Amino acid sequence: EALLEIKDLHVEVEDKHILKGLNLTIKKGEIHAIMGPNGSGKSTLCHAIMGNPRYRITGGEILFEGENITNLKVNERAKKGIFLSFQSPEEIPGITVDNFIRTSSTIVTGQNMSMLQFAKEMQKMLELLDMSAEYRTRYLNVGFSGGEKKKTEVLQMAFLKPKLVMLDEIDSGLDIDALKVVAETIKKLKTEDMAILVVTHYNRILNYLEPDVISVLMDGKIVKEGDKELARILEEKGYDFVRNGA
Ligand code: ADP
Ligand code: MG
Ligand code: MG
Repeated sequence: EALLEIKDLHVEVEDKHILKGLNLTIKKGEIHAIMGPNGSGKSTLCHAIMGNPRYRITGGEILFEGENITNLKVNERAKKGIFLSFQSPEEIPGITVDNFIRTSSTIVTGQNMSMLQFAKEMQKMLELLDMSAEYRTRYLNVGFSGGEKKKTEVLQMAFLKPKLVMLDEIDSGLDIDALKVVAETIKKLKTEDMAILVVTHYNRILNYLEPDVISVLMDGKIVKEGDKELARILEEKGYDFVRNGA
């Protein structure tokens, strides 16, 4: 059963035509990796699915659970269960991690957790992510290392309980220990009807997450689909191997 269906999607950024008729289907429960050269539009695709208005959809449609969401705003898509972990999470001075996560989870899930329940859940998640409790009162991402920023994205994912999780290069800037912790936590959080779209350049995270499908994004389209073996070939031979019609 399709969770997300993208049909003939065209997206422009700053008047540059980036996605040019992209088709993609992600099934419920699936882990789907998107690989592709730098600048091919992987982040653009994630932002367009999330509804960021800077990424202008000029053609095609996005269906989520069968519903056309192409014209919905970011917050409306978030409420439907779409979540994007940013490639470069923003620093937000003045808003603590606790505050940000508690507020956004209340808005997105429509459920107001008690203080006690929130604290318990937060403690559990921080332990899983190998982060100290001190982070709860720090300003969101301010002064965080690359790895801590990515862990904080996973923390948000845990509280927002999305149906579609997009991880945009969650593995970039992580050392091996942090990568393992992040990947294992994501696996623990994944439920049977949750789908994960993971954007990456590397096999390392795919060895942990074990994607069902790997799609290659090049020249504004998905040009090839395969299984884990495709990721191995790409890492070994590069994208020209696909471009040259392999
Ligand atoms: P990838 O994630 O695959 O590396 P991106 O989606 O980030 O690729 O970028 C695709 C193209 O769109 C690039 O040429 C990039 O310079 C351009 N682009 C992406 N985001 C923006 C933006 N916010 N403003 C201007 N250009 C952008
Ligand atoms: Mg890039
Ligand atoms: Mg990117």
